[in-house]
Amino acid sequence: MAGIIVSSGIAMGKVKRIEAYGPVGLEKTQDIDQALLTLEKSLTTMDHKLINLQEKTKKLLGEKEAQIFEAHRMIIKDPTLMPQIIDIIKKEHLSPGAAVEKVLTDMELMFKHLDSDYMKERALDIFDIKKRWVSLLRGNDSFENLSEPVILIAEELTPSDTLEMDLELVSGLVMEKGGKTSHTAILAQSMGIPAIVGYGPISLESGVDVILDGDQGLLIDDYDQETLSDYQKKLDLYLSEKEMLKKYLARPSQTLDGKYIELAGNIAGIQDLEALKTYHADGVGLFRTEFIYMNRSKAPTEDDQYDIYKKIVLAMDQKPIIFRSMDIGGDKEVPYLDMPKEHNPFLGYRAIRYCLDHVDFFKAQINAILRASVYGKVKLMFPMIGSVSQFIEAKKVVLKCMEDLKSKGQAFDASMEIGIMIEIPSAAIQVKAFAKHVDFFSIGTNDLTQYTLATDRQSEYVSGLYDYFDPAVLSLIHQVIKVSNETNTWVGMCGSAAGDPLMIPLLIKWGIDEMSMSPSQIPKAKSILCEMDTREDKNLTLEILSAEDGTMVRKILENYK
Ligand code: PEP
Ligand code: MG
Repeated sequence: MAGIIVSSGIAMGKVKRIEAYGPVGLEKTQDIDQALLTLEKSLTTMDHKLINLQEKTKKLLGEKEAQIFEAHRMIIKDPTLMPQIIDIIKKEHLSPGAAVEKVLTDMELMFKHLDSDYMKERALDIFDIKKRWVSLLRGNDSFENLSEPVILIAEELTPSDTLEMDLELVSGLVMEKGGKTSHTAILAQSMGIPAIVGYGPISLESGVDVILDGDQGLLIDDYDQETLSDYQKKLDLYLSEKEMLKKYLARPSQTLDGKYIELAGNIAGIQDLEALKTYHADGVGLFRTEFIYMNRSKAPTEDDQYDIYKKIVLAMDQKPIIFRSMDIGGDKEVPYLDMPKEHNPFLGYRAIRYCLDHVDFFKAQINAILRASVYGKVKLMFPMIGSVSQFIEAKKVVLKCMEDLKSKGQAFDASMEIGIMIEIPSAAIQVKAFAKHVDFFSIGTNDLTQYTLATDRQSEYVSGLYDYFDPAVLSLIHQVIKVSNETNTWVGMCGSAAGDPLMIPLLIKWGIDEMSMSPSQIPKAKSILCEMDTREDKNLTLEILSAEDGTMVRKILENYK
Protein backbone atom coordinates (compact mmCIF):
# COMPACT_ATOMS: atom_id res chain seq x y z
CA MET A 1 0.00 0.00 0.00
CA ALA A 2 1.30 3.46 -0.83
CA GLY A 3 0.47 6.84 0.62
CA ILE A 4 0.30 10.28 -0.93
CA ILE A 5 3.72 11.82 -1.37
CA VAL A 6 4.09 15.21 0.24
CA SER A 7 7.83 15.59 0.37
CA SER A 8 10.19 13.20 -1.42
CA GLY A 9 13.43 11.62 -0.22
CA ILE A 10 14.50 8.60 1.80
CA ALA A 11 14.62 8.28 5.57
CA MET A 12 15.62 5.39 7.80
CA GLY A 13 15.15 5.10 11.53
CA LYS A 14 12.98 4.06 14.42
CA VAL A 15 9.24 4.66 14.53
CA LYS A 16 7.82 7.09 17.05
CA ARG A 17 4.04 6.84 17.23
CA ILE A 18 2.09 9.89 18.23
CA GLU A 19 -1.30 8.93 19.58
CA ALA A 20 -4.16 11.37 19.29
CA TYR A 21 -5.53 12.50 22.61
CA GLY A 22 -8.58 10.50 23.55
CA PRO A 23 -10.38 10.50 26.89
CA VAL A 24 -9.08 7.96 29.43
CA GLY A 25 -12.43 7.51 31.15
CA LEU A 26 -12.69 5.79 34.51
CA GLU A 27 -9.55 3.68 34.31
CA LYS A 28 -8.83 2.08 37.70
CA THR A 29 -5.61 1.31 39.55
CA GLN A 30 -4.85 -1.39 42.14
CA ASP A 31 -1.63 0.03 43.50
CA ILE A 32 -2.53 3.34 45.12
CA ASP A 33 0.99 4.06 46.45
CA GLN A 34 2.51 3.54 43.02
CA ALA A 35 -0.19 5.72 41.42
CA LEU A 36 0.57 8.56 43.84
CA LEU A 37 4.27 8.26 43.14
CA THR A 38 3.66 8.33 39.36
CA LEU A 39 1.45 11.37 39.75
CA GLU A 40 4.05 13.22 41.82
CA LYS A 41 6.78 12.47 39.28
CA SER A 42 4.57 13.55 36.37
CA LEU A 43 4.02 16.94 37.98
CA THR A 44 7.77 17.57 38.00
CA THR A 45 8.09 16.39 34.37
CA MET A 46 5.18 18.61 33.34
CA ASP A 47 6.86 21.58 34.95
CA HIS A 48 10.10 20.88 33.06
CA LYS A 49 8.21 20.46 29.80
CA LEU A 50 6.44 23.77 30.26
CA ILE A 51 9.72 25.52 31.06
CA ASN A 52 11.21 24.07 27.83
CA LEU A 53 8.21 25.16 25.79
CA GLN A 54 8.37 28.58 27.36
CA GLU A 55 12.03 28.95 26.38
CA LYS A 56 11.48 27.63 22.87
CA THR A 57 8.50 29.93 22.29
CA LYS A 58 10.39 32.91 23.68
CA LYS A 59 13.17 32.30 21.18
CA LEU A 60 10.82 31.79 18.23
CA LEU A 61 7.93 34.13 18.90
CA GLY A 62 8.91 36.43 21.74
CA GLU A 63 8.39 37.06 25.42
CA LYS A 64 4.65 37.73 25.33
CA GLU A 65 3.77 34.51 23.47
CA ALA A 66 5.87 32.52 25.92
CA GLN A 67 3.95 33.86 28.91
CA ILE A 68 1.12 31.45 28.28
CA PHE A 69 3.33 28.58 29.47
CA GLU A 70 4.16 30.48 32.65
CA ALA A 71 0.40 30.71 33.23
CA HIS A 72 0.12 26.95 32.65
CA ARG A 73 2.87 26.33 35.19
CA MET A 74 0.97 28.39 37.73
CA ILE A 75 -2.18 26.37 37.12
CA ILE A 76 -0.50 23.00 37.66
CA LYS A 77 1.23 24.29 40.77
CA ASP A 78 -1.91 25.76 42.28
CA PRO A 79 -1.86 24.39 45.87
CA THR A 80 -5.48 23.23 45.62
CA LEU A 81 -5.04 21.16 42.46
CA MET A 82 -2.87 18.21 43.53
CA PRO A 83 -4.89 17.49 46.72
CA GLN A 84 -8.03 17.11 44.58
CA ILE A 85 -6.32 14.65 42.22
CA ILE A 86 -4.77 12.70 45.10
CA ASP A 87 -8.13 12.53 46.81
CA ILE A 88 -9.74 10.96 43.75
CA ILE A 89 -6.97 8.38 43.39
CA LYS A 90 -7.35 7.41 47.03
CA LYS A 91 -11.15 7.37 47.19
CA GLU A 92 -12.14 6.20 43.73
CA HIS A 93 -9.00 4.17 42.89
CA LEU A 94 -8.69 5.92 39.54
CA SER A 95 -5.40 5.72 37.64
CA PRO A 96 -3.29 8.93 37.69
CA GLY A 97 -4.26 9.72 34.07
CA ALA A 98 -7.96 9.22 34.77
CA ALA A 99 -7.80 11.29 37.97
CA VAL A 100 -6.00 14.18 36.28
CA GLU A 101 -8.51 14.02 33.46
CA LYS A 102 -11.48 14.07 35.80
CA VAL A 103 -10.34 17.04 37.87
CA LEU A 104 -9.23 19.10 34.89
CA THR A 105 -12.38 18.31 32.90
CA ASP A 106 -14.54 19.57 35.78
CA MET A 107 -12.45 22.70 35.93
CA GLU A 108 -12.64 23.17 32.16
CA LEU A 109 -16.43 22.85 32.17
CA MET A 110 -16.75 25.27 35.04
CA PHE A 111 -14.76 27.93 33.14
CA LYS A 112 -16.61 27.22 29.91
CA HIS A 113 -19.96 27.97 31.50
CA LEU A 114 -18.94 31.28 33.01
CA ASP A 115 -20.14 34.41 31.31
CA SER A 116 -16.93 36.29 30.75
CA ASP A 117 -14.87 35.76 27.61
CA TYR A 118 -11.75 35.84 29.70
CA MET A 119 -12.92 32.85 31.71
CA LYS A 120 -13.98 30.99 28.58
CA GLU A 121 -10.44 31.40 27.27
CA ARG A 122 -9.11 29.88 30.50
CA ALA A 123 -11.11 26.75 29.64
CA LEU A 124 -8.92 26.34 26.55
CA ASP A 125 -5.82 26.63 28.69
CA ILE A 126 -7.10 23.91 30.99
CA PHE A 127 -7.85 21.66 28.00
CA ASP A 128 -4.33 22.19 26.73
CA ILE A 129 -2.81 21.28 30.09
CA LYS A 130 -5.08 18.25 30.38
CA LYS A 131 -4.08 16.97 26.95
CA ARG A 132 -0.40 17.34 27.70
CA TRP A 133 -0.54 15.88 31.21
CA VAL A 134 -2.78 12.92 30.44
CA SER A 135 -0.70 12.05 27.35
CA LEU A 136 2.43 12.12 29.49
CA LEU A 137 0.86 9.80 32.06
CA ARG A 138 -0.32 7.38 29.39
CA GLY A 139 3.12 7.19 27.77
CA ASN A 140 1.86 8.95 24.63
CA ASP A 141 4.22 11.70 25.31
CA SER A 142 4.45 13.69 22.14
CA PHE A 143 7.09 15.32 20.00
CA GLU A 144 8.56 17.66 22.58
CA ASN A 145 10.35 14.81 24.26
CA LEU A 146 12.29 13.31 21.39
CA SER A 147 15.86 12.39 22.20
CA GLU A 148 16.99 10.77 18.92
CA PRO A 149 16.01 11.15 15.24
CA VAL A 150 12.76 9.29 14.52
CA ILE A 151 10.17 8.65 11.85
CA LEU A 152 6.93 10.03 13.24
CA ILE A 153 3.73 8.11 12.61
CA ALA A 154 0.40 9.65 13.56
CA GLU A 155 -3.20 9.20 12.59
CA GLU A 156 -3.38 12.90 11.90
CA LEU A 157 -1.59 15.93 13.23
CA THR A 158 -3.14 19.34 13.43
CA PRO A 159 -1.29 22.31 11.96
CA SER A 160 -0.72 23.51 15.52
CA ASP A 161 0.82 20.17 16.56
CA THR A 162 3.49 20.56 13.93
CA LEU A 163 4.51 23.88 15.40
CA GLU A 164 5.57 22.04 18.57
CA MET A 165 7.84 19.48 16.94
CA ASP A 166 11.56 19.48 17.44
CA LEU A 167 12.28 19.40 13.72
CA GLU A 168 15.92 18.47 14.03
CA LEU A 169 14.89 15.12 15.47
CA VAL A 170 12.22 14.22 12.92
CA SER A 171 13.77 12.48 9.90
CA GLY A 172 10.48 11.44 8.31
CA LEU A 173 6.74 11.79 8.78
CA VAL A 174 3.84 9.50 7.92
CA MET A 175 0.20 10.37 8.55
CA GLU A 176 -2.55 7.79 8.27
CA LYS A 177 -5.07 10.41 7.18
CA GLY A 178 -5.00 13.65 5.22
CA GLY A 179 -4.49 14.87 1.67
CA LYS A 180 -1.50 16.33 -0.15
CA THR A 181 -2.23 19.97 0.52
CA SER A 182 -3.79 19.83 3.96
CA HIS A 183 -2.02 22.48 5.98
CA THR A 184 -0.26 19.93 8.14
CA ALA A 185 1.18 18.35 5.00
CA ILE A 186 2.36 21.76 3.82
CA LEU A 187 4.11 22.37 7.13
CA ALA A 188 5.73 18.94 6.93
CA GLN A 189 6.98 19.81 3.49
CA SER A 190 8.44 23.05 4.72
CA MET A 191 10.55 21.03 7.15
CA GLY A 192 12.24 19.56 4.09
CA ILE A 193 11.92 15.99 5.37
CA PRO A 194 10.43 13.01 3.48
CA ALA A 195 6.72 12.86 4.27
CA ILE A 196 3.71 10.77 3.25
CA VAL A 197 0.06 11.35 4.13
CA GLY A 198 -3.22 9.44 3.64
CA TYR A 199 -1.41 6.12 4.20
CA GLY A 200 -4.29 4.30 5.91
CA PRO A 201 -4.03 2.41 9.24
CA ILE A 202 -0.47 1.49 10.28
CA SER A 203 0.04 -1.15 12.96
CA LEU A 204 3.69 -0.38 13.73
CA GLU A 205 4.67 0.36 17.33
CA SER A 206 7.26 2.84 18.51
CA GLY A 207 10.81 1.53 18.33
CA VAL A 208 10.48 -0.58 15.15
CA ASP A 209 13.12 0.07 12.46
CA VAL A 210 11.61 1.29 9.18
CA ILE A 211 12.51 2.74 5.80
CA LEU A 212 10.41 5.64 4.55
CA ASP A 213 10.49 5.90 0.76
CA GLY A 214 9.16 9.38 0.09
CA ASP A 215 9.70 8.97 -3.66
CA GLN A 216 7.22 6.13 -3.92
CA GLY A 217 5.08 6.86 -0.88
CA LEU A 218 6.09 3.64 0.91
CA LEU A 219 6.78 2.67 4.49
CA ILE A 220 8.79 -0.55 4.69
CA ASP A 221 9.26 -2.43 7.97
CA ASP A 222 10.00 -6.04 7.10
CA TYR A 223 13.06 -5.82 4.87
CA ASP A 224 16.05 -8.00 4.03
CA GLN A 225 19.69 -7.07 3.76
CA GLU A 226 19.44 -6.51 0.00
CA THR A 227 16.55 -4.03 0.32
CA LEU A 228 18.42 -2.25 3.09
CA SER A 229 21.55 -1.82 1.00
CA ASP A 230 19.48 -0.70 -2.03
CA TYR A 231 17.91 1.99 0.09
CA GLN A 232 21.25 2.92 1.59
CA LYS A 233 22.44 3.59 -1.98
CA LYS A 234 19.32 5.63 -2.75
CA LEU A 235 19.80 7.62 0.42
CA ASP A 236 23.41 8.36 -0.54
CA LEU A 237 22.22 9.48 -3.98
CA TYR A 238 19.53 11.69 -2.44
CA LEU A 239 22.07 13.26 -0.10
CA SER A 240 24.59 13.77 -2.90
CA GLU A 241 21.96 15.50 -5.08
CA LYS A 242 21.19 17.76 -2.13
CA GLU A 243 24.91 18.52 -1.92
CA MET A 244 25.18 19.14 -5.69
CA LEU A 245 22.29 21.61 -5.62
CA LYS A 246 24.18 23.74 -3.14
CA LYS A 247 26.29 25.15 -5.97
CA TYR A 248 23.20 26.98 -7.25
CA LEU A 249 22.44 28.65 -3.96
CA ALA A 250 24.56 31.75 -4.42
CA ARG A 251 23.60 32.22 -8.09
CA PRO A 252 21.08 34.90 -9.04
CA SER A 253 17.62 33.56 -9.95
CA GLN A 254 18.00 34.31 -13.62
CA THR A 255 17.12 32.36 -16.76
CA LEU A 256 19.61 31.80 -19.59
CA ASP A 257 18.07 34.75 -21.48
CA GLY A 258 18.50 37.01 -18.47
CA LYS A 259 15.01 37.24 -16.94
CA TYR A 260 15.01 37.53 -13.17
CA ILE A 261 12.29 35.37 -11.65
CA GLU A 262 11.98 35.67 -7.91
CA LEU A 263 12.36 32.39 -6.00
CA ALA A 264 10.68 33.07 -2.70
CA GLY A 265 9.80 31.05 0.39
CA ASN A 266 6.48 30.36 2.10
CA ILE A 267 6.59 30.92 5.84
CA ALA A 268 4.32 30.54 8.86
CA GLY A 269 6.29 32.63 11.35
CA ILE A 270 9.65 33.52 12.85
CA GLN A 271 10.55 29.84 13.05
CA ASP A 272 11.03 29.74 9.25
CA LEU A 273 13.46 32.64 8.93
CA GLU A 274 16.49 30.40 9.34
CA ALA A 275 15.43 28.22 6.39
CA LEU A 276 14.95 31.29 4.16
CA LYS A 277 18.53 32.23 4.87
CA THR A 278 19.90 28.71 4.41
CA TYR A 279 18.29 28.33 0.99
CA HIS A 280 18.93 31.91 -0.19
CA ALA A 281 15.28 32.85 -0.72
CA ASP A 282 14.85 36.06 -2.74
CA GLY A 283 11.91 37.04 -0.54
CA VAL A 284 8.75 35.73 1.08
CA GLY A 285 5.97 35.03 -1.40
CA LEU A 286 3.47 33.91 1.22
CA PHE A 287 3.46 34.61 4.92
CA ARG A 288 0.59 32.52 6.27
CA THR A 289 -0.17 34.94 9.10
CA GLU A 290 -3.02 32.84 10.49
CA PHE A 291 -0.42 30.72 12.27
CA ILE A 292 0.23 33.71 14.53
CA TYR A 293 -3.36 33.21 15.76
CA MET A 294 -2.95 29.54 16.54
CA ASN A 295 -1.58 27.75 19.63
CA ARG A 296 -2.84 30.41 21.95
CA SER A 297 -5.93 31.00 24.00
CA LYS A 298 -6.81 34.48 22.83
CA ALA A 299 -6.20 36.61 19.77
CA PRO A 300 -2.89 38.45 19.52
CA THR A 301 -3.34 42.20 19.90
CA GLU A 302 -2.21 44.72 17.31
CA ASP A 303 0.97 45.31 19.34
CA ASP A 304 1.65 41.57 19.75
CA GLN A 305 1.44 41.18 15.99
CA TYR A 306 3.46 44.29 15.28
CA ASP A 307 6.35 42.91 17.39
CA ILE A 308 6.39 39.65 15.41
CA TYR A 309 5.94 41.27 11.98
CA LYS A 310 8.62 43.85 12.64
CA LYS A 311 11.12 41.11 13.58
CA ILE A 312 10.37 39.28 10.33
CA VAL A 313 10.53 42.38 8.13
CA LEU A 314 13.83 43.45 9.68
CA ALA A 315 15.28 39.95 9.27
CA MET A 316 14.42 40.02 5.56
CA ASP A 317 16.60 43.10 5.13
CA GLN A 318 14.67 44.88 2.34
CA LYS A 319 13.81 41.68 0.47
CA PRO A 320 10.10 41.64 -0.47
CA ILE A 321 7.59 39.97 1.86
CA ILE A 322 4.00 39.26 0.93
CA PHE A 323 1.84 39.22 4.04
CA ARG A 324 -1.35 37.32 3.48
CA SER A 325 -4.07 38.56 5.78
CA MET A 326 -5.28 35.79 8.07
CA ASP A 327 -6.78 32.78 6.34
CA ILE A 328 -8.53 31.21 9.31
CA GLY A 329 -11.31 28.67 8.88
CA GLY A 330 -11.23 25.64 6.57
CA ASP A 331 -8.81 23.20 8.23
CA LYS A 332 -7.26 25.95 10.36
CA GLU A 333 -9.34 26.13 13.48
CA VAL A 334 -8.85 28.88 16.01
CA PRO A 335 -10.88 27.68 19.01
CA TYR A 336 -11.16 31.01 20.84
CA LEU A 337 -12.93 32.61 17.87
CA ASP A 338 -15.92 30.33 18.32
CA MET A 339 -16.49 30.07 14.59
CA PRO A 340 -19.61 28.15 13.59
CA LYS A 341 -19.29 24.46 12.78
CA GLU A 342 -20.14 24.01 9.12
CA HIS A 343 -20.77 21.01 6.89
CA ASN A 344 -18.36 22.30 4.25
CA PRO A 345 -15.83 24.52 6.02
CA PHE A 346 -13.73 24.92 2.86
CA LEU A 347 -16.75 26.45 1.15
CA GLY A 348 -17.78 28.40 4.18
CA TYR A 349 -16.88 31.14 6.58
CA ARG A 350 -13.19 31.41 5.88
CA ALA A 351 -10.43 34.01 5.40
CA ILE A 352 -11.56 37.35 3.93
CA ARG A 353 -15.22 36.31 4.29
CA TYR A 354 -14.82 36.16 8.06
CA CYS A 355 -12.59 39.25 8.24
CA LEU A 356 -15.02 41.52 6.39
CA ASP A 357 -17.67 40.60 8.95
CA HIS A 358 -15.31 41.27 11.89
CA VAL A 359 -13.77 44.52 10.81
CA ASP A 360 -12.22 45.57 14.13
CA PHE A 361 -10.52 42.21 14.45
CA PHE A 362 -9.30 42.54 10.84
CA LYS A 363 -8.10 46.10 11.38
CA ALA A 364 -5.85 45.07 14.27
CA GLN A 365 -3.93 42.89 11.83
CA ILE A 366 -3.85 45.44 9.01
CA ASN A 367 -2.60 48.15 11.39
CA ALA A 368 0.15 45.84 12.62
CA ILE A 369 1.24 45.03 9.06
CA LEU A 370 1.16 48.69 8.05
CA ARG A 371 3.23 49.71 11.06
CA ALA A 372 5.79 46.99 10.25
CA SER A 373 5.92 48.10 6.60
CA VAL A 374 8.29 50.99 7.39
CA TYR A 375 11.08 48.50 8.11
CA GLY A 376 11.31 46.89 4.69
CA LYS A 377 9.51 45.98 1.49
CA VAL A 378 6.08 44.80 2.58
CA LYS A 379 3.18 43.84 0.33
CA LEU A 380 -0.27 42.73 1.44
CA MET A 381 -2.64 40.26 -0.17
CA PHE A 382 -6.09 38.98 0.66
CA PRO A 383 -6.97 35.27 0.54
CA MET A 384 -10.18 33.79 -0.87
CA ILE A 385 -11.22 36.83 -2.88
CA GLY A 386 -14.09 35.85 -5.18
CA SER A 387 -15.25 39.12 -6.71
CA VAL A 388 -13.93 42.57 -7.56
CA SER A 389 -16.36 44.23 -5.16
CA GLN A 390 -15.06 42.07 -2.33
CA PHE A 391 -11.53 43.24 -3.09
CA ILE A 392 -12.68 46.86 -3.13
CA GLU A 393 -14.35 46.39 0.25
CA ALA A 394 -11.20 44.84 1.74
CA LYS A 395 -8.99 47.56 0.28
CA LYS A 396 -11.26 50.19 1.85
CA VAL A 397 -10.46 48.72 5.26
CA VAL A 398 -6.76 49.14 4.53
CA LEU A 399 -7.25 52.74 3.39
CA LYS A 400 -9.22 53.48 6.55
CA CYS A 401 -6.42 51.97 8.65
CA MET A 402 -3.92 54.17 6.82
CA GLU A 403 -6.06 57.21 7.58
CA ASP A 404 -6.31 56.29 11.26
CA LEU A 405 -2.59 55.67 11.61
CA LYS A 406 -1.86 58.96 9.89
CA SER A 407 -4.08 60.87 12.27
CA LYS A 408 -2.29 59.23 15.19
CA GLY A 409 1.07 60.20 13.70
CA GLN A 410 2.15 56.58 13.24
CA ALA A 411 4.46 55.77 10.33
CA PHE A 412 3.68 53.28 7.54
CA ASP A 413 4.52 52.74 3.89
CA ALA A 414 1.78 54.63 2.05
CA SER A 415 2.76 53.01 -1.25
CA MET A 416 2.47 49.45 0.06
CA GLU A 417 1.23 47.21 -2.76
CA ILE A 418 -2.10 45.47 -2.26
CA GLY A 419 -2.94 42.32 -4.19
CA ILE A 420 -4.99 39.16 -4.07
CA MET A 421 -4.57 35.44 -4.15
CA ILE A 422 -6.10 33.83 -7.18
CA GLU A 423 -7.46 30.68 -5.59
CA ILE A 424 -11.17 30.77 -6.34
CA PRO A 425 -12.08 29.97 -9.97
CA SER A 426 -14.32 33.08 -10.19
CA ALA A 427 -11.26 35.27 -9.57
CA ALA A 428 -9.25 33.41 -12.22
CA ILE A 429 -12.06 33.80 -14.72
CA GLN A 430 -12.43 37.51 -13.92
CA VAL A 431 -8.70 38.18 -13.90
CA LYS A 432 -8.95 40.98 -16.48
CA ALA A 433 -11.44 42.90 -14.35
CA PHE A 434 -9.27 42.42 -11.26
CA ALA A 435 -6.17 43.65 -13.08
CA LYS A 436 -7.66 47.16 -13.15
CA HIS A 437 -7.78 47.27 -9.34
CA VAL A 438 -4.97 45.22 -7.83
CA ASP A 439 -1.23 45.76 -7.65
CA PHE A 440 -0.38 42.07 -8.02
CA PHE A 441 -1.65 38.51 -8.15
CA SER A 442 -0.41 35.36 -6.45
CA ILE A 443 -1.88 32.10 -7.68
CA GLY A 444 -2.85 29.71 -4.88
CA THR A 445 -2.98 26.36 -6.61
CA ASN A 446 -3.86 24.41 -3.45
CA ASP A 447 -7.30 25.92 -3.28
CA LEU A 448 -7.65 26.71 -6.98
CA THR A 449 -7.28 22.99 -7.66
CA GLN A 450 -9.78 21.91 -5.00
CA TYR A 451 -12.38 24.43 -6.12
CA THR A 452 -11.93 23.89 -9.87
CA LEU A 453 -12.08 20.11 -9.59
CA ALA A 454 -14.58 20.04 -6.68
CA THR A 455 -12.11 17.82 -4.79
CA ASP A 456 -11.49 18.31 -1.07
CA ARG A 457 -7.74 18.96 -0.66
CA GLN A 458 -7.79 17.19 2.71
CA SER A 459 -9.51 13.97 1.81
CA GLU A 460 -7.47 10.82 1.27
CA TYR A 461 -10.51 9.28 -0.48
CA VAL A 462 -10.52 11.65 -3.44
CA SER A 463 -6.81 12.39 -3.52
CA GLY A 464 -6.61 10.52 -6.84
CA LEU A 465 -8.81 13.22 -8.37
CA TYR A 466 -6.84 16.11 -6.90
CA ASP A 467 -4.30 17.17 -9.52
CA TYR A 468 -2.94 20.61 -10.31
CA PHE A 469 -1.77 19.23 -13.67
CA ASP A 470 -5.37 18.77 -14.71
CA PRO A 471 -5.81 20.75 -17.98
CA ALA A 472 -8.78 22.63 -16.45
CA VAL A 473 -6.60 23.96 -13.64
CA LEU A 474 -3.71 24.65 -16.00
CA SER A 475 -5.88 26.59 -18.41
CA LEU A 476 -6.95 28.90 -15.56
CA ILE A 477 -3.31 29.33 -14.55
CA HIS A 478 -2.30 30.01 -18.15
CA GLN A 479 -5.05 32.59 -18.53
CA VAL A 480 -4.10 34.39 -15.29
CA ILE A 481 -0.43 34.64 -16.27
CA LYS A 482 -1.27 35.70 -19.82
CA VAL A 483 -3.65 38.48 -18.74
CA SER A 484 -1.17 39.61 -16.08
CA ASN A 485 1.56 39.95 -18.67
CA GLU A 486 -0.74 41.79 -21.07
CA THR A 487 -1.81 44.24 -18.35
CA ASN A 488 1.64 44.61 -16.78
CA THR A 489 0.42 43.16 -13.52
CA TRP A 490 3.01 41.32 -11.45
CA VAL A 491 2.05 37.66 -11.03
CA GLY A 492 3.47 35.02 -8.72
CA MET A 493 2.44 31.60 -7.52
CA CYS A 494 2.51 30.44 -3.91
CA GLY A 495 0.53 27.17 -4.00
CA SER A 496 2.39 23.85 -3.79
CA ALA A 497 2.56 23.57 -7.60
CA ALA A 498 5.14 26.40 -7.58
CA GLY A 499 7.74 24.10 -6.02
CA ASP A 500 7.09 21.14 -8.32
CA PRO A 501 10.09 20.57 -10.64
CA LEU A 502 7.73 19.42 -13.39
CA MET A 503 5.58 22.56 -13.18
CA ILE A 504 8.41 25.09 -12.95
CA PRO A 505 9.48 25.07 -16.67
CA LEU A 506 5.87 25.62 -17.71
CA LEU A 507 5.43 28.59 -15.38
CA ILE A 508 8.67 30.14 -16.59
CA LYS A 509 7.67 29.74 -20.24
CA TRP A 510 4.25 31.21 -19.58
CA GLY A 511 5.78 34.33 -18.02
CA ILE A 512 5.50 34.06 -14.23
CA ASP A 513 7.33 36.71 -12.17
CA GLU A 514 7.77 34.79 -8.94
CA MET A 515 7.47 31.28 -7.55
CA SER A 516 7.12 30.86 -3.81
CA MET A 517 7.60 27.47 -2.18
CA SER A 518 8.87 25.64 0.88
CA PRO A 519 12.35 27.09 1.38
CA SER A 520 13.96 23.64 1.08
CA GLN A 521 12.61 23.36 -2.51
CA ILE A 522 14.41 26.51 -3.67
CA PRO A 523 17.77 24.92 -4.64
CA LYS A 524 16.12 22.44 -7.02
CA ALA A 525 13.91 25.20 -8.49
CA LYS A 526 16.94 27.39 -9.05
CA SER A 527 18.84 24.59 -10.77
CA ILE A 528 15.96 24.36 -13.29
CA LEU A 529 15.50 28.11 -13.67
CA CYS A 530 19.17 28.84 -14.30
CA GLU A 531 19.37 26.29 -17.13
CA MET A 532 16.38 27.40 -19.25
CA ASP A 533 15.05 30.33 -21.27
CA THR A 534 11.66 32.05 -21.19
CA ARG A 535 10.58 31.56 -24.82
CA GLU A 536 7.10 30.06 -24.84
CA ASP A 537 6.71 26.84 -26.81
CA LYS A 538 3.23 27.43 -28.26
CA ASN A 539 2.89 23.81 -29.41
CA LEU A 540 3.62 22.54 -25.93
CA THR A 541 1.01 24.90 -24.44
CA LEU A 542 -1.56 23.77 -26.95
CA GLU A 543 -0.79 20.10 -26.39
CA ILE A 544 -1.07 20.48 -22.63
CA LEU A 545 -4.25 22.48 -22.57
CA SER A 546 -5.97 20.00 -24.83
CA ALA A 547 -4.76 16.89 -22.97
CA GLU A 548 -7.29 14.44 -21.57
CA ASP A 549 -6.23 14.61 -17.94
CA GLY A 550 -3.42 15.42 -15.52
CA THR A 551 -1.66 12.08 -16.05
CA MET A 552 -1.36 12.81 -19.74
CA VAL A 553 -0.04 16.30 -19.01
CA ARG A 554 2.59 14.88 -16.70
CA LYS A 555 3.73 12.42 -19.35
CA ILE A 556 4.04 15.23 -21.90
CA LEU A 557 6.09 17.30 -19.48
CA GLU A 558 8.33 14.39 -18.48
CA ASN A 559 9.18 13.74 -22.12
CA TYR A 560 9.68 17.44 -22.78
CA LYS A 561 12.53 17.73 -20.28
C1 PEP B 1 -3.24 28.01 -1.83
O1 PEP B 1 -4.46 27.85 -1.63
O2 PEP B 1 -2.65 27.61 -2.85
C2 PEP B 1 -2.40 28.68 -0.83
C3 PEP B 1 -1.16 28.96 -1.08
O3 PEP B 1 -2.95 28.98 0.38
P1 PEP B 1 -3.24 27.90 1.51
O4 PEP B 1 -2.53 26.63 1.13
O5 PEP B 1 -2.71 28.45 2.79
O6 PEP B 1 -4.72 27.76 1.48
MG1 MG C 1 -5.49 28.91 -0.10
